[in-house]
Amino acid sequence: MAWQLCMYINGEWLKTDQQFSVTNPATGDVIERVPDGDHSHAKLAIDAASAAYKSWSSATAYARAEVLQKAYSLMIARKQVLAELLTSEQGKPLKAALNEVQYAADFLRWFAEEAKRVYGETIPSARADQRFIVRYQPIGVVAAVTPWNYPISMVTRKVAPALAAGCTIVLKPAEATPLCAIAVFDILHEAGLPAGVANLVTTLDPAPVGKEFCTNPKVKKLTFTGSTAVGKKLSQDAAPQLKRVSLELGGHAPFIVFDDADPIRAAKGASLVKFLNTGQACISPNRIFVQRGILDSFIQTFTERVAKMKAGNGLEPEVSIGPLVNHAAVEKVSRQVEDALKKGAILHSGGEPLSGGQYSAGHFYAPTVLSNVSEDMLIYREETFGPVAAIISFDSYDQVIKMANDTHYGLAAYVYTENLSRAMHAFEALDFGIIGINDINPTSAAAPFGGMSESGLGREGAREGLAEYLETKLGGFSI
Ligand code: NAD
Repeated sequence: MAWQLCMYINGEWLKTDQQFSVTNPATGDVIERVPDGDHSHAKLAIDAASAAYKSWSSATAYARAEVLQKAYSLMIARKQVLAELLTSEQGKPLKAALNEVQYAADFLRWFAEEAKRVYGETIPSARADQRFIVRYQPIGVVAAVTPWNYPISMVTRKVAPALAAGCTIVLKPAEATPLCAIAVFDILHEAGLPAGVANLVTTLDPAPVGKEFCTNPKVKKLTFTGSTAVGKKLSQDAAPQLKRVSLELGGHAPFIVFDDADPIRAAKGASLVKFLNTGQACISPNRIFVQRGILDSFIQTFTERVAKMKAGNGLEPEVSIGPLVNHAAVEKVSRQVEDALKKGAILHSGGEPLSGGQYSAGHFYAPTVLSNVSEDMLIYREETFGPVAAIISFDSYDQVIKMANDTHYGLAAYVYTENLSRAMHAFEALDFGIIGINDINPTSAAAPFGGMSESGLGREGAREGLAEYLETKLGGFSI
């Protein structure tokens, strides 16, 4: 398809002489080559978004909603094709890719509906001759940077609320997954989005484009999803102009299983969410805390389930663990596992990279279970972003809450207990933005997603996600 080779600027598909290759992480095959843009393309795209802002921001919410609704329908109609592209480009098994496309489409539909509900307020004044009116208006041109691990849904989670609010946008996808972003922009184009309202710049070297995003005065807001290190850097670069910034960053999620929980149900939940996307999710449980009374039964069920997981090319039906994104990711996981084993962790399953045969050209690591994990191990502190489950035992409620909160991150946490009072206490005591109580999927287009502390600023999805793209304007009327 012609559009697969292009950036999208001012409603036009743009080619460049410089291109870079996109490879399948399961096979090492080059799938496609895409334009290698630079800061000049970012500037062009920002100019286009700035020129389109006046008419898009003054279009009715109903008109904006209609485009998003059409984009939703197109995405659903193309679900299978998009999911296959996602699996080839990013690696997750096809079933997970289908779920991601649905999740991505949900943002288009939800924000199409919510665009019509940006209500203002009137506020009673202490003065009889005064009236206050509050109105919410779009911020202006938005610059967005998205990661490779959820390359379709992270795009719509930013683009849909920005467009619903009346903002225009320039997006830079991750260099590993530009094809999914191009496919989303193809949908927006076909849905009738006016020229310049949403623009896409692909590049192999993100730094110059990021610099333009952070320093161009026409950009009023930066929204970023990715690592904490890069999020901090971009936030610093955007600070001199006081741009509004939203950051969805790394996580180090605790998964707490109290001894009144059903260990089988908890082990099933933990194995499903830990190995989702091969552990490459910001809400992936990184530290599985199990109360000593049910430790053995938990480990047994958990390990049995993990040992049955088959790694491979996500297009094969029985595969439930895809490849890691690149060789560096395999090395990071190996380093954490070797360090843990050296310091006394017990290996129950996996524990090594997968190589040879079908694994020879991809980046695979065996799904791994470690217990007896302790505070002195790298895996206890660092985000893993890979298929390694680290099990830590605990004795009391106070002890586990303290251990769970002992991190700079604050994105997601999970609690398994049948005790309602304990669940409520834990919900209140854990310093994380998203808490799943006996629930491994506390996410939805309608629910606020985001972290505390070094996991980020702001929220995506829900009313909060729309508010990130709105300015508050107060009118004080003397009558
Ligand atoms: P990353 O920070 O390296 O890359 C993320 C994005 O930032 C990519 O598009 C990349 O090209 C871009 N980038 C990198 N350096 C840049 C620069 N100097 N200027 C501008 N852009 C730059 O992170 P990653 O390895 O791609 O993604 C994994 C991280 O993302 C993990 O830490 C994960 O937890 C986090 N993540 C968070 C969420 C969330 O919602 N909180 C969701 C997905 C991923």
